[in-house]
Amino acid sequence: AKADGGNRYALADPDSDARAISRHHLTHHLPAALKGSEFFIEYQPLIRMEDGSLEGAEALVRWSHPRHGVLGPDRFIPLAEHTGLIVPLGRWVLRESVRQACEWQVQGIGGSRPLRLNVNLSPRQLNHPDLVEETVSVLDEFGLPPGSLCLEITESAMVRADDHELKPLRQLADLGVGIALDDFGTGYSNLASLRRLPVTTLKLDRSFSEGLQQHPADPVDMKIVEGIVSLAHALELSVTVEGVETCNQAERLRELGCDSAQGWYYARPGPPERLPEAV
Ligand code: C2E
Ligand code: CA
Ligand code: CA
Ligand code: CA
Repeated sequence: AKADGGNRYALADPDSDARAISRHHLTHHLPAALKGSEFFIEYQPLIRMEDGSLEGAEALVRWSHPRHGVLGPDRFIPLAEHTGLIVPLGRWVLRESVRQACEWQVQGIGGSRPLRLNVNLSPRQLNHPDLVEETVSVLDEFGLPPGSLCLEITESAMVRADDHELKPLRQLADLGVGIALDDFGTGYSNLASLRRLPVTTLKLDRSFSEGLQQHPADPVDMKIVEGIVSLAHALELSVTVEGVETCNQAERLRELGCDSAQGWYYARPGPPERLPEAV
């Protein structure tokens, strides 16, 4: 890559240079990007471990930037979170992905068991007073059953929330919406606090899959996952693992009782048309 705008860092590390230029620039352009429909959503399949069938998909937002190409969410979600634009952006992601999920259901993808849609929710959205009302109205608009939607909230955001802030999630859970504790195992929640949280699923962070990559897998890592799965099941929570990249990992995680999995081994995130191929 060549130096851009005479920035000396470009010579040393084009990637970090791109990040440095962009932060300000990206923040500045976020509102116009949302208005100008520069965002799009990729979907990554969620696979049932018992039989390898398609359980659902996670919606992952991308920004098709006219100058910088396709940007991943790590580049702009923190900025959108910081400026508050995450609220309208998140609203758009929810509406567009629910619309897409209904289309899949109408097409009969997933067979007799309706597909589940997983959508990420940022802390700012969690604290927004209209979260419950907006979510219910989007489900109503497209006729998606609440049980077909699962909202993912990171463990670190969830454990920071007090009872008042958790109330909207509890209301949504009571309506049948699934609530997943995302990146579980990285947020320092003590296991007892799981009782307090309105969650239906633990989504084990990728680091757990990584621990099972070598063969033979690290016996301690195996024990840890085994323990988390048995605790989760005792609390009637399902367990999804992310970051499954190899057949070996998939086999181990299945043996350890994980309910579903997501990762490059099954499929990378892709456009909605590609989801049926994952069946
Ligand atoms: P996440 O929720 O933990 O999503 C999983 C990330 O892991 C995705 O990165 C996905 O592409 C990646 N991944 C999937 N399978 C594998 C694998 O086998 N190996 C490896 N190494 N990675 C895998 P992505 O798409 O870059 O998203 C990054 C993060 O951005 C997400 O992490 C999520 O926290 C956030 N995000 C994405 N879309 C949204 C959104 O609409 N709203 C909010 N608030 N956050 C979002
Ligand atoms: Ca997620
Ligand atoms: Ca995750
Ligand atoms: Ca993660």
